[in-house]
Amino acid sequence: MKKITILGVSGSIGRQCIEVIDEHINQFELIGISVHNQIEYALELIKKYPSIKFVAVKDEKDAKKVQTINDKLNIFIGNEGLKELASIKETDLLVNSLVGFIGLVPTMTAIQNKIDIALANKETLVVAGHLIKQEVKKYGVKLLPIDSEHSAIMQCLNGENHKDIKNLIITASGGPFLNKKKEELKDVTLKQALKHPNWSMGAKITIDSSTLVNKGLEVIEAHWLFDIPYEQIKVLIHPQSIIHSMVEYIDGSVIAQLGIPSMKIPIAYALAGKTRLKSDASLLDFKKLRNLEFIKPDLERFRTLKLAYEAGKIGHSLPTVYNSANEMAVKYFMEGKIRFDQIEQFIEKAMELHQLIKNPNLEELLEVDKQTRNLVSAFIKEDLYGFN
Ligand code: MN
Repeated sequence: MKKITILGVSGSIGRQCIEVIDEHINQFELIGISVHNQIEYALELIKKYPSIKFVAVKDEKDAKKVQTINDKLNIFIGNEGLKELASIKETDLLVNSLVGFIGLVPTMTAIQNKIDIALANKETLVVAGHLIKQEVKKYGVKLLPIDSEHSAIMQCLNGENHKDIKNLIITASGGPFLNKKKEELKDVTLKQALKHPNWSMGAKITIDSSTLVNKGLEVIEAHWLFDIPYEQIKVLIHPQSIIHSMVEYIDGSVIAQLGIPSMKIPIAYALAGKTRLKSDASLLDFKKLRNLEFIKPDLERFRTLKLAYEAGKIGHSLPTVYNSANEMAVKYFMEGKIRFDQIEQFIEKAMELHQLIKNPNLEELLEVDKQTRNLVSAFIKEDLYGFN
């Protein structure tokens, strides 16, 4: 039995992990969970899975609720609690499905405790790929992506030689605004941005898909996961989301991974440790596939993608600025405080104003994150930056 702990269990990925565990209950044992706002879901899981021993919640009040239904549980609280949960040595595989920068410290903690990780929190690799890579090597842990594109690439690389890779081709659906003109993006509403054509995901990543920031983050994620220079990582818009990504080899062969768009497939592949589990997912019906389109992304139209390449290539503390500025801008967009097209403007401005810190350590990254958030807040409060 593989003992699983899930950080961010109430999110979209967390809940689908639970489904995969349920389908293979003789292979996996859920021992730890964390929730932020959705304490009711945690209580439900605790009742359903007697195997749960460790629970992280956001505050004392929620801790009491957990205690009332089971006083034998180990309960952890707040950000420190996430760190404690990530360091439980009994865990064989930690699923990190936290959203955003907050996932970084728990990932680092798990690695340092020699716990293998299934990583849905791509921000971890975006902001601290240089540190994560070094620690993964030092502690000898496995880091498996739960991201459909990266799972696809990992599958396309099976049994191949790294030196034979010509390019990684990451596919992108293009999101709901693929066919909108740049000036039309000014009037885009939150409701429209939350309507992804193919994938069902959490709110933050759905907005990131509509701006293509998600693809930008994934380019940086791929760079660190697969050790490939940015020049050899291409993005291709493929609106049908059937091919989840591909690898081009030096001999002219291209290997692709295809399937219906369901996150349960990459989740199961990561949970099982790069082996295949039987699933009831629908199979692709090739007879019904009328056309598979491929479009080169317009980097002026989707500047966020261009900025991500720039942040990745320059590296050091700049990817953190890209990510943190985006997290704040998305938050303000969801609160109705800024326009959709301002998300990319805020990221660009924050990157422009940043003083690069070379080879940042964890503390420095936390500081850059904080400063970037403050800066983006100033964009909407003060008149200094020309956004008002
Ligand atoms: Mn993805």
